[in-house]
Amino acid sequence: MKNQRRQLVLPPRVLIFPFPAQGHVTAMLTLAEVLSLAGIDVTFLNTDHIHNRLFRHADVEARFADYPGLLFRTVPDGLPDDHPRSHERTEVFHSMIATTKPVLKEMLVSGALGSVTCIIADGSFARFATDLAYEFQIPIIHFRTVSACCIWIHFCVDDIIKAGELPLREKEDMNRLITSVPGMESFLRCRDLPSFCQVRDLSNPQLNSIARETRQSCRAQGLILNTFEDLEGPILSHIRSLICPKTYTIGPLHTHLKLRLARKNASKSDQSSNSIFEVDRNCMDWLDSQPSKSVIYVSFGSITILTREALIEFWHGLVNSNMRFLWVVRPDMVTGEGGEGDVPAELLEATRERGYMVGWVPQVEVLAHQAVGGFLTHSGWNSTLESIVAGVPMICWPYFADQQINSRFVGEVWKLGIDMKDVCDRKVVEKMVIDLMVERREEFVRSTAEMARLAKESVSEGGSSYCNLDRLVEYIRLTSKEK
Ligand code: UDP
Repeated sequence: MKNQRRQLVLPPRVLIFPFPAQGHVTAMLTLAEVLSLAGIDVTFLNTDHIHNRLFRHADVEARFADYPGLLFRTVPDGLPDDHPRSHERTEVFHSMIATTKPVLKEMLVSGALGSVTCIIADGSFARFATDLAYEFQIPIIHFRTVSACCIWIHFCVDDIIKAGELPLREKEDMNRLITSVPGMESFLRCRDLPSFCQVRDLSNPQLNSIARETRQSCRAQGLILNTFEDLEGPILSHIRSLICPKTYTIGPLHTHLKLRLARKNASKSDQSSNSIFEVDRNCMDWLDSQPSKSVIYVSFGSITILTREALIEFWHGLVNSNMRFLWVVRPDMVTGEGGEGDVPAELLEATRERGYMVGWVPQVEVLAHQAVGGFLTHSGWNSTLESIVAGVPMICWPYFADQQINSRFVGEVWKLGIDMKDVCDRKVVEKMVIDLMVERREEFVRSTAEMARLAKESVSEGGSSYCNLDRLVEYIRLTSKEK
């Protein structure tokens, strides 16, 4: 009798599905591990392409063996094997909506994903997952891998247009202030708008897509952000009042995971890679032999493309600054004619003396290394957070997406570095490297140390991100029970 009355309650199982790109996979896999640690079962869904690269280059299998409730599943992205996916994101987006959505639906019906009680969808392509969640009556939470300040601008696109501040004019003054985004009236210039908003034509498909996808978060039951209250507090209150009241800030996620792992089991506090590129660790030996804070680390992330001319400008700037440098040059990063034979001999010579170029590094470890004193970055959100935690000041050279607004916040609001923006000139690079590493070093040491302290505090027991994660886990358990 007692048994008959007992209700069948499914254990919570969350389906996590990142957009297929390094930055999204990194953040969402970290989220998956954090939730697994909290006892939530997770089904992590990748495209076949990403899954194969992840299992080839990262130690995912061994690492997740500790979590029997974590399942990896794959879906096709509908593109041929040799498609240059990371450079053609719009094509990936459309192909996935056409191909992946029906497969995903079928998998939900057949139970191939386990008994999913909650979906955590990547908010950058949230519409199809949100539609499915509504159809299957599964609670849906969005996760955004970009900064809160970027999401807020994307949400305000209609208001910027109504105020007549978009589209950009033919001969635009890119320093013109945009005053219609609450909280950013005094410092947001045209050139700081996320790249998809810098349009001269309002029918631009990317502009419409990001505005539409961002508004989808109003349909979600919750919104998870990889940020922390002390960093983006004022913007977060706008997001909570107009986009999603249940906004959980749980970042910086990579540090949050590290601390939670250490708490649970001290021997497991070392983080592993989520890389879809082959990591070359030899640079760590090189760093070991460099003086403290003497190296500027240079990386433009997993997607940025550089022309050969831009590469040579950066190279001259770095060499002329006389600083030591560690530079990530991915094999697919540079376009245009020419090879090593076309590089001026003085650059090669100086690089042999005080530089190190590498295809892909363990970035979190590099930033934490005592020899690294600065970061020349493309201002991707993961890189920005990793630099903040490591207390390393930045020179920002944003490439696309949220990077333009991240770099503005780094330079103007948080004062954690210098925003080089859309300039790529050897003299400017040289001057900014010297400013960051020598001239303004003291100023940046103070500001970055303070922000690093706040970041770590937020993910420590009792901190805002720590408490928000506990609330999120509680919420997932509760809605899973209702489901
Ligand atoms: N990364 C890395 N090794 C490298 C370069 C980058 O591990 O040599 C990692 C970096 O730590 C970050 C991610 O790749 O976690 C890049 O994400 P981000 O959001 O900064 O930029 P995106 O690649 O999405 O433009």
